[in-house]
Amino acid sequence: MKINNPRRIVGSNAERTRLHNRQVVLGLVREHQPIGRAELARFSGLSTQAVSNIIAELEEDGFLAEAGRHSSGRGLPVLQYRLNGDGAAALGIEVRPDAMFGALVNLAGETLYTTRVALPHNDPKTVLSIAQSILSEALKASCGSGQRLLGAGVVMPGPFGNVGISGAGQSALHGWSDVDAAALFEEALDMAVVVENDATAAAVAERVRGIAGGLRTFCFLYFGAGLGLGVVEDGEVRRGAFGNAGEIGHVIVTPDGRQCACGNRGCLETYASRIAAREQLAKAGIAIASVSDIERLYEANDPHLMAWINEAAGPLSQAIGLIENLFDPETVILGGAMPDAVLDHLISALYLPAGSVAASDRRATPRVQRGACGRLTAALGGAALVIHDTITPRIAAKT
Ligand SMILES: [Zn+2]
Repeated sequence: MKINNPRRIVGSNAERTRLHNRQVVLGLVREHQPIGRAELARFSGLSTQAVSNIIAELEEDGFLAEAGRHSSGRGLPVLQYRLNGDGAAALGIEVRPDAMFGALVNLAGETLYTTRVALPHNDPKTVLSIAQSILSEALKASCGSGQRLLGAGVVMPGPFGNVGISGAGQSALHGWSDVDAAALFEEALDMAVVVENDATAAAVAERVRGIAGGLRTFCFLYFGAGLGLGVVEDGEVRRGAFGNAGEIGHVIVTPDGRQCACGNRGCLETYASRIAAREQLAKAGIAIASVSDIERLYEANDPHLMAWINEAAGPLSQAIGLIENLFDPETVILGGAMPDAVLDHLISALYLPAGSVAASDRRATPRVQRGACGRLTAALGGAALVIHDTITPRIAAKT
C-alpha cells in the first residue's frame, strides 16, 4: 500500500507511529537523495523538528549519512543526507527442492556475498542447518564492515499451509506443509525472518535491480521446480488471503491432458516447467540435475530439448494470455532456474493470443521479456523484501 500522507495513521500507538515515520523519512531519502531536512519535512508532512529527531536517530543507527551541503543561492548552504548503503544488510535465502541459494545485500542494493549449496535432502532439519552455515559464511565474508543485519527473507516454493495441492509432487518440499517455516527459521538464524514464495520474491528482485525498475504493474513467471506467478500491482506485491496467490502451475491448460502430481490432469506445470523438461528428456534417456545440464544440452542443440521448448510454448502462450487479461500488466517477465538462452528461445517460440488486453498499440514495453537477475533472482528478492520492509511504510501494518 502506498503512503502519501503519513498523518493518516494518527490513532495508532506511539511506537508504531515512530517506526512508521522513520520508514517515511528513509523512503523519501532513497527516492530523492541527496536531500535536506526542510524538503523532507515538506514531502512527509512532518514538522522540521520531528524530521530532525528522526534524522538524528537514523544517523546514530547507521542508516543515514551526511552528503555535503547544497547552496540554493540564498542563505546558508543546506546540509544534505543520503542512505548509508553500508549501514545495514539483509540476508536472502532461497530453498529449492535440490539446492539452496544465499545472498547478502546491503541497504544500497549491492550484493556482498552469494552462494549455492546442493541439498542432499530438503527436510526442515537439513535445510535449517544449511541456512545457519550460509548465515555464518555470509557474515564472515562481510566481516569488518560493521553492518547491522536487518533480518532474513526466506524464499520457498508455494503453496504454503495444508492446502489441496500442497503435496504437489516434485515441486514441493518434504516435511514443510504442517510447520511454521518462519518460526523455525527465526529460531535457527536468531533474527527476524519473512517467508515468501519464490515467484513473488523474484518479482521484487526484478523491480529493485532488474528490468522492472521503472514498472509499477507487472507479472513474473518463475521457473523453480514447478512454475509460479508473482504479481506486482502499483508497486506492491499481491499475495492472496493465505499467501498462495499465483499458483499458475496448477491452472489446467489441456483438459484430460498429462497427469499432474496435484491430482488434476493437464496442468500448465506438466508442460512448461523444469519438471516437464526433466520428464520429457528422461523419456529419451537424458538425465538433467541442474541448470548447467540444461545449458549444455541447449548449446549442443539437443533435439529432445528443442522439442520440449516447442511443446511448452503453446500452453505457456495460453497462460500468458490469461495472465494479461486478468492483471493487465505492463509486461510479463520470464525467469528463474532456466538458462537465459533457453528462456530467450522459449520467448521467441511463443505465439501470444492476438485477442488480449495486452495487444495494444499504446504499450511501451514488450508483452513478454526475460528477467535480468539470473538464477539468484529469488534469493536476491528475499533480501530485497527485508530492505523494502525497512524502508517502505505501510498503513496496514500487522499489529
Ligand atoms: Zn497440477
